[in-house]
Amino acid sequence: MSIIRVALDMPLSTLFDYVLADGITVVPGQRVMVPFGRKQVVGVVMECTAESELAAEKIKPVVKLLDEIPPLPEELLTLLRFCSDYYHHPLGATVLSAMPARLRSCEPVIFKEVLQYTLSADGQALDLSLLPKRKVVQQRILTALQAGSLSATHLRALSPSAPAALKALLLAGWVESVTLPLALSKGEKGLAFNNVHTLTAAQQQAVDAVSQSKGYGCFLLHGVTGSGKTEIYVHLMNRMLQQGGQVLLLVPEINLTPQLENYFRSRFPDAELVSLHSGLSDSVRAQNWLRAQSGQARIVLGTRLSVFTPLPQLALVIVDEEHDASFKQQDGLRYSARDVAIFRANQRGVPIVLGSATPSLESYYNAQSGRYRLLQLTERALAAAQLPTVRCVNTSNAFMQHGISEQLLTALEQRLERGEQSLVFINRRGYAPVLMCTACGWLSGCPNCAGKLVLHLQDQRLRCHHCGHQTRVPHACPGCGNADLQPVGVGTQRVENALQERFPKARILRVDRDSTRNKGAWNTMRRRIHDDEVDILVGTQILAKGHDFPNLTLVGVLNPDSALYSSDFRASEKLFAQLAQVAGRAGRADKPGEVLIQTFFPDHPLFRALREHDYNAWAKNLLEERQSAGFPPFMYQAMLRAEGKQENEVFRYLHDARTAAVALIQTMETPGLVEVFGVVPAAMPRRANHIRAQLLIQSANRKALQLFLRAWQSSLEGLNANKLRCSLDVDPLDF
Ligand code: ADP
Ligand code: ZN
Ligand code: ZN
Repeated sequence: MSIIRVALDMPLSTLFDYVLADGITVVPGQRVMVPFGRKQVVGVVMECTAESELAAEKIKPVVKLLDEIPPLPEELLTLLRFCSDYYHHPLGATVLSAMPARLRSCEPVIFKEVLQYTLSADGQALDLSLLPKRKVVQQRILTALQAGSLSATHLRALSPSAPAALKALLLAGWVESVTLPLALSKGEKGLAFNNVHTLTAAQQQAVDAVSQSKGYGCFLLHGVTGSGKTEIYVHLMNRMLQQGGQVLLLVPEINLTPQLENYFRSRFPDAELVSLHSGLSDSVRAQNWLRAQSGQARIVLGTRLSVFTPLPQLALVIVDEEHDASFKQQDGLRYSARDVAIFRANQRGVPIVLGSATPSLESYYNAQSGRYRLLQLTERALAAAQLPTVRCVNTSNAFMQHGISEQLLTALEQRLERGEQSLVFINRRGYAPVLMCTACGWLSGCPNCAGKLVLHLQDQRLRCHHCGHQTRVPHACPGCGNADLQPVGVGTQRVENALQERFPKARILRVDRDSTRNKGAWNTMRRRIHDDEVDILVGTQILAKGHDFPNLTLVGVLNPDSALYSSDFRASEKLFAQLAQVAGRAGRADKPGEVLIQTFFPDHPLFRALREHDYNAWAKNLLEERQSAGFPPFMYQAMLRAEGKQENEVFRYLHDARTAAVALIQTMETPGLVEVFGVVPAAMPRRANHIRAQLLIQSANRKALQLFLRAWQSSLEGLNANKLRCSLDVDPLDF
């Protein structure tokens, strides 16, 4: 009898046994349709065996092999087993959640073949000089096709309006499409490469270091903003593509834009590039995944979920902005895509490059201790583009209106006179974070959460940014009836209004989650900024990252201080990264940039390091703090979280879990190695009517922590977690 052990998307750590009809064979990684309860579900074969612990009559037969697409490669299954093990997440749920949704459904998946375009007989006979001059793109396509057939991807790289022009050419009968049969691509060599810059000496050194390394190596590319990290990626990608390899490039959620895709397409016009992120439709995502698995797609550009893409010729992994928190998944399989990428590069024996202007302390520490190789770029690539001058405005003695100091207003005025752009950065959307009664001190609290309702003046609403609850702005205080309700604090809308009042002629654009909600809104805004149709940008972190606005010379930062006294020990690390990013927006081209930070604590080491562009000093300072406090990267942590409607149930569960942990530690070889903290309320102790609490475990020894967690997990499974949402988060980022 042939039995298969199948991974199913279930919250159980076991695999499920099914029997195969005689004569049928499968391999691990194969998708199958199997009965489960009264339903039929998709599973992935993990093992093939001859026997089962179940009685023969209890084992149900497989309904169908879903073999229209190739099985998941063994290497990916190994990676997923590691993730399931390390993050203590059920294997079946891990395997299934790594796959695109479309491949998890029983519907057959059809692998679309790529269309190639060629000139028809009429097209070949055509005299191009007779075509109207304004049909530039049609001309360009026809000229390109004279050299041979091309795919849609290649044609798209010719012009943004290529699809429309192609349609017209197909209609006219000058161009025809043909489908190419699908074959596992071995990786074409000698692809075209647009080399636009001669590398600087520092860039060349970095490229050489990575490309000369043999096998696995982890490189931390620490380069100030504008130092040309992207150019290094491009040159490394070129080397690997030339040798027939595939490249995986991971970027933070917020950075993945059509512009970025087109940029890499333009540098490698012959190499097929696919993107993978949650914004794609299910069928596109599945097709892109399959193109990567077949080896046809040579470059995979994606957010964290793309780290699980099967890549038979993987030769290089790049993680851009490696410090970014969006690489960490916050539910289900709580993985860090950066860490999984490192495991993957190691498994495959290929180099991985982690790039950042402000590396995470974990990576910086690993580079200091020699586990990673450090590559540093200390200057901007363009000689003319200097790093901006950073100054602090001491808000304890500054005159402020709506949260904006006179100094900043003067600086903004100068930019308006010179026709240069400015950016005012404030990480709070809405008009004001809270509404207050001047008579009784009532504050607009959310009825469902421990947070406050944010005032959105434009649509006259109070809104909770945690649970979505909203109401109309009351006319009088619900507590005492007083009609004088005042907004407290400052958000983007308030800054926008105040600046518009002060500079009536200025063209002000607000960029935050509210103003960019509609599809395509942010793209339109970017174009307006680039076309110099905007004088002052007011925005949140959406504006902080990766965008290049050449005419921007001033950045103002409002009220960053709350991170300095946050209960999250990573808050100041994140703040430094964010401010260095946003400061990096100023003075990218030939005009010098200036950054003004409004703070109560101008002498704080964080601001001193920012002024001196000295990440290293700041990181050393933080590392010392972390070491003496016993925090990561000197410790490895795991967080057990629970939430539920009843406070006593939440705490009872966590206290029971703690008791089990303490008992377990006593039985370990070196009991002092793993440390259990107390049960405490979460930073947001109540959200959407759920009470939330947590329990932290840590150890200086990763292996000891893992051993402990494995044993602890089985005691957790025995606890009563009815009606609770519980999760174990290994290497948690959020506190
Ligand atoms: P980073 O990713 O480090 O922020 P980029 O790669 O975006 O930096 O480069 C910043 C700017 O410098 C870009 O406009 C890029 O075109 C330019 N640049 C990069 N490398 C070179 C080079 N070797 N010579 C000239 N310009 C360069
Ligand atoms: Zn009141
Ligand atoms: Zn709420």
